[in-house]
Amino acid sequence: MVNIILLGPPGAGKGTQAKRISSLYNIPHISTGDMFREAIKKGTELGKTAAKFINEGHLVPDELTIAIVKERLNKDDCKNGYLLDGFPRTLPQAEALDALTLELARPLTHVINITCGTQELVRRITGRRVCRKCGAPYHIDTLKPKVTGICDLCGGELYQRADDTKEALLVRLDHYYKETKPLEDYYKAKKLLVEVDGELGLEGTLKAIKKVLGATK
Ligand code: AMP
Repeated sequence: MVNIILLGPPGAGKGTQAKRISSLYNIPHISTGDMFREAIKKGTELGKTAAKFINEGHLVPDELTIAIVKERLNKDDCKNGYLLDGFPRTLPQAEALDALTLELARPLTHVINITCGTQELVRRITGRRVCRKCGAPYHIDTLKPKVTGICDLCGGELYQRADDTKEALLVRLDHYYKETKPLEDYYKAKKLLVEVDGELGLEGTLKAIKKVLGATK
């Protein structure tokens, strides 16, 4: 059984790799970013609160974030493994997760830190476009759709996330370096942290992650 955290800066490729790993192992992909975006789309109270922080690149307060993960990890489908993408991002979140995994007897087995240089992160994020309908990711230079502005998969409209602008990204990176990067030491001390190079290409990075997980698949 694998209970995984994917750590790393915005743009390292956590979401993309998470989708692949979760289908490979048949475990739920729990992305707090996706959960917030879903709540924003639905216009729920949580969504309204979260949007104020997210659109400017700030972190959603710990209390709210921890509460949604608590509810999600409690679900039955996490019994045989889970993959957290974008959580924890702060020390209080990491500590809350420790308490929760202990309570649920679902201890972490791997913390995979996907690394990527800042220049490359900026290139990836500011050029990213996403389908409004199905969420498929594109890039204005390296992953163009067949028809400009239209999703190849579902015909939905492509847009730039409000938090993918250069201004918001700088705020996100600042939060990452100040609040999230210190978690590397936290998980190193627990002997759970393994680093994987996020600049090996999609397949190369996936291969490196599978090696860490001892995948036979
Ligand atoms: P992501 O899709 O993981 O890049 O997340 C998008 C945005 O959602 C982040 O920039 C934060 O504003 C918010 N968010 C996602 N996960 C967390 C978290 N664990 N703690 C606080 N804010 C979060």
